Amino acid sequence: MEALRLERVSKYYQSENNVSVGMKHISLAFHMGEFVAVTGESGSGKSTLLNVLSGLDKYEEGEMFIFSEETSHYQIKDFENYRRENVGFVFQNYNIIDSYTVYQNVMLALELQGYPSRERKERALKLIDQVGLTKQKHQKSSKLSGGQKQRAVIARALAKDTPIIVCDEPTGNLDQTSAEQVIELLHDVSKDKLVIIVTHEFDQVSKYATRRIKMSDGEVVEDIKIKAYDNITVNKVEKTKSLNFFGLIKFSLRNLLAQPKRFVFMLFLMIIAISVFTVVYSNQIFGLRTTGLEQSSTYPSVPNSRVLVERRDGNALTQTDIDQIAEFNGVSKVYAYGALFYNDTSFNLISFFNGTEVMDMMGYRYNDSALNLNTSDLESGRLPEAADEIVVSRYWWGIELNETFLLASTRVWDWNKETLEASSIGYFKVVGIVNNDLQTIYFSEAFLDQPYPTTPSLDLTLKAQVKETIENNLKLTYNDQDFYVYQNGENFSGFDLFMDNNTPLLEIPVSIEVTITSQSLTTMLSTTKTIRLGNEFSSEGFNYGVISVSVFNSIIEDFLEEVEEEYVTLPSPIASVSIENQLVGTRIVNQLDVETYKVYYPANIPGFLQEFLVFILSIVAVIILTILGLFLYAVIHAVTKNMMNSRKKDFSIFRSVGAHESTLSVLVILEQILLSIIGLVLSVFILNMIVLFVPDHGLTIEYMGVTDYLILVLSITLLGLWLGLRFNKRVFHQTVIQSLTSGGE
Ligand code: ADP
Ligand code: MG
Repeated sequence: MEALRLERVSKYYQSENNVSVGMKHISLAFHMGEFVAVTGESGSGKSTLLNVLSGLDKYEEGEMFIFSEETSHYQIKDFENYRRENVGFVFQNYNIIDSYTVYQNVMLALELQGYPSRERKERALKLIDQVGLTKQKHQKSSKLSGGQKQRAVIARALAKDTPIIVCDEPTGNLDQTSAEQVIELLHDVSKDKLVIIVTHEFDQVSKYATRRIKMSDGEVVEDIKIKAYDNITVNKVEKTKSLNFFGLIKFSLRNLLAQPKRFVFMLFLMIIAISVFTVVYSNQIFGLRTTGLEQSSTYPSVPNSRVLVERRDGNALTQTDIDQIAEFNGVSKVYAYGALFYNDTSFNLISFFNGTEVMDMMGYRYNDSALNLNTSDLESGRLPEAADEIVVSRYWWGIELNETFLLASTRVWDWNKETLEASSIGYFKVVGIVNNDLQTIYFSEAFLDQPYPTTPSLDLTLKAQVKETIENNLKLTYNDQDFYVYQNGENFSGFDLFMDNNTPLLEIPVSIEVTITSQSLTTMLSTTKTIRLGNEFSSEGFNYGVISVSVFNSIIEDFLEEVEEEYVTLPSPIASVSIENQLVGTRIVNQLDVETYKVYYPANIPGFLQEFLVFILSIVAVIILTILGLFLYAVIHAVTKNMMNSRKKDFSIFRSVGAHESTLSVLVILEQILLSIIGLVLSVFILNMIVLFVPDHGLTIEYMGVTDYLILVLSITLLGLWLGLRFNKRVFHQTVIQSLTSGGE
């Protein structure tokens, strides 16, 4: 049966400025069962003939028939299909994938051909046995001898079970004995096929050849039948299945793992690049999330690690409410009593000399629970347990462990022990010092779990402040004129107001206004009092008055009542929630502050420039990340380029074994994407481990949200895709023959 026929086929090679003849006007027919030896000098056109017959190269003139089918209309893809299903190749330079084992090389052909997966293994082992490599089946091909490599290639060529086998000087690099073995093997295993062997040592094949064709200068000069051959009938193989997606993934994973050193190196590079990118990315995110946020002036002592929750209907939080808030991801604890944090009180640590004289007042900025502290955060001492134990930031020097301090509001600056004690929340012992500069006093759970332990003293604190403010600001307005009022000694009775004009002053009601401004609350208080005014005036240009102590005190009392109504008796059923980090706080505000609850996050209130700052920072972030991304891409690209060049030979072998160019393109892209994704997963894992186990790591990756990770995955995938596409261009712009001959360098 005729398999291939050439009718006056010519092939020219076009190089820059001249055309050389590969073969001209060749007319030949080949039949199934033939074992054809093609001989001739070097450059006589043997390889050209073989490449045309096997569809590796196009021809310019004449007509080639494949199983009686014309091929002059064939496109590259048609030849690819023909090759894939019908031709097995054995070349001089052992076209074997060095990084694969013998078994993998043979399996490759079966997989690419879509051979039923269940039968693959058995068939591969059988073929390996047939070529005598059972012992070496799991050896890397690079470790095989030349003869063994060629036998492995034959096994692979046979695996495809093609009707035609072409061999271009298969023994060219082999010693005499190996050469003989290989030819014998070829003969044994391909009795029912058409075998065309190019050789310049005809003697090697003379024992088996059924026909000898001699070429010279691109023409056939001799065509002799040596032996009879069996007449065999086969059908041209049409279409076998190609690799499905999972096959491709498996294939790309195998390629990645086939060269462990290369894989580890690339992965290492990827991990470094992706980690650097992730760290910078999360840093930018951190910047964006925290820029323009300010401490609320209403709650200046509530730290970053705490949010306040109350019910919008003003009722106390029920246990159900508290349980529900506690379930929120990232909440460490919910304290039913939040009074300590719902007040603008931060504390002084006050120590006494001789037990009576104030020696020192050290102000701290924040109050917090010690819940989120670890023993490892402590510079010395231990965490607080009893209600009267505290831990403080190393902020003031000279605080000793086990020293006891009175804790009173920073608003109270009084040298009188009794006043201080009255406005304090009690005596506390410092049992530990924290190595941070957060200016925070940390209380024990035992203390914070007490129901509103600080409320009464907080009233006193507030009173003390109001009193002080009033004393300094008491002003009386009469006829739109302001008069500063001072109290006189205990025994002064009555009230005199001196004015700078001669207006007769009567006993009239005057309004008294006081503006109280502290770091936390600005409020205008006013009251109306009836005061008897005197009728004298004193100095010019300065308005002041003197009132008796009792009048002064009654005015103060009035104001305090007002303050109490407005501030101290505020609805205090408020819970304070200890949270793991700022992200959790923001989330709670976004998700919980809806209908039932009102949530405050005093440490993170958007300042008035916030939107603008975030806008500017976003632009900066995009620029930074783009530049960094391009830089990292350039590095990865440069390295991958070298890697890919060294794999060119492998790719041409894949193609000669029957992989479609499109399959391989997808493969290259998949490999890059897989590498990127594995790199990403490992990077994120490593970074998280650092966050967990390295103190003071300075990383901000916890600020990465789901969206950020999605963006990262997407950009990394795109990176892989981009790299893959670029290398496809490089790898596949050559024909199989070009890359085979130039490959491997
Ligand atoms: P053989 O295999 O018998 O040594 P070839 O078929 O390789 O001979 O070459 C036949 C002729 O075609 C030679 O003159 C060779 O120089 C030329 N030739 C082969 N391949 C190319 C090519 N890629 N470009 C230009 N000329 C080529
Ligand atoms: Mg040649």
